[in-house]
Amino acid sequence: MSYIVAIDGPAGSGKGTITKLVAKDLNLVSIDTGMLYRCHALAVIKNNIDINNEEEVEKILDKVNINLINKNNKQIVFLNEEDVTNQIRTPEVNTIVSKTSAIIGVRNRITELERKIGYDWLKEGKNIIMEGRDITTVVFPDAKVKIYLDATPIERAKRRCKQNKRNGINQSFEEVLQSIMERDKNDMNKEVGALKKAPDAVYVDSSKCSVNKVKNKIINIIKEKTKENKNENHKKNIKSNS
Ligand code: C5P
Repeated sequence: MSYIVAIDGPAGSGKGTITKLVAKDLNLVSIDTGMLYRCHALAVIKNNIDINNEEEVEKILDKVNINLINKNNKQIVFLNEEDVTNQIRTPEVNTIVSKTSAIIGVRNRITELERKIGYDWLKEGKNIIMEGRDITTVVFPDAKVKIYLDATPIERAKRRCKQNKRNGINQSFEEVLQSIMERDKNDMNKEVGALKKAPDAVYVDSSKCSVNKVKNKIINIIKEKTKENKNENHKKNIKSNS
């Protein structure tokens, strides 16, 4: 039977990188839910909607079509017919996304979309790995594997600085740290879908680990948990047949 791996964690914890590597090694479909919230935020910008007008920010979802597809292990997001995969990473989107994604109506609709995307892949017999802020707690609380990936704010800011440098973005370490802490505050204090560790999620601290070490740690957790589930199903089958 197909299974879901759910991963949550704060900005810069390495979820995106690790999820893609784990998906490749275990042949899972990887789904980055931040792309959906970013695409919605981009729609808000493109339609000149005032982000304080919550009703309009939510209603734009009636007028646009957001579509996330996986092509050759790469995720592409479409806003209507337009590929906006690069446009969703601009500083403009970064600035508003934690605010637009805090609106309850927006969260409810995007949660529905995330579940639909997940179930569509499961129906095709694929195993999925979905990452975000509320996947283990709200979207798929019954996922077979639940992981909370964390790192200290300083470590996350260091990583983001390196990433910015590679992408030609010029921001001081202090600015990056400040923006990470601001985003943490917004993400952890949302009325619905706040970032928090689910009681039964496995906590992984990546602060002092290489990417490879974290990847292997998570692969081991997935193998262990899916083996446990296989054993449980096997025991259930024996019980119901006796
Ligand atoms: O993961 P990423 O940094 O691309 O996500 C962008 C923003 O989208 C987050 O800061 C968060 O506010 C929001 N988000 C969310 N729930 C998710 C995924 C992302 O609220 N499941």
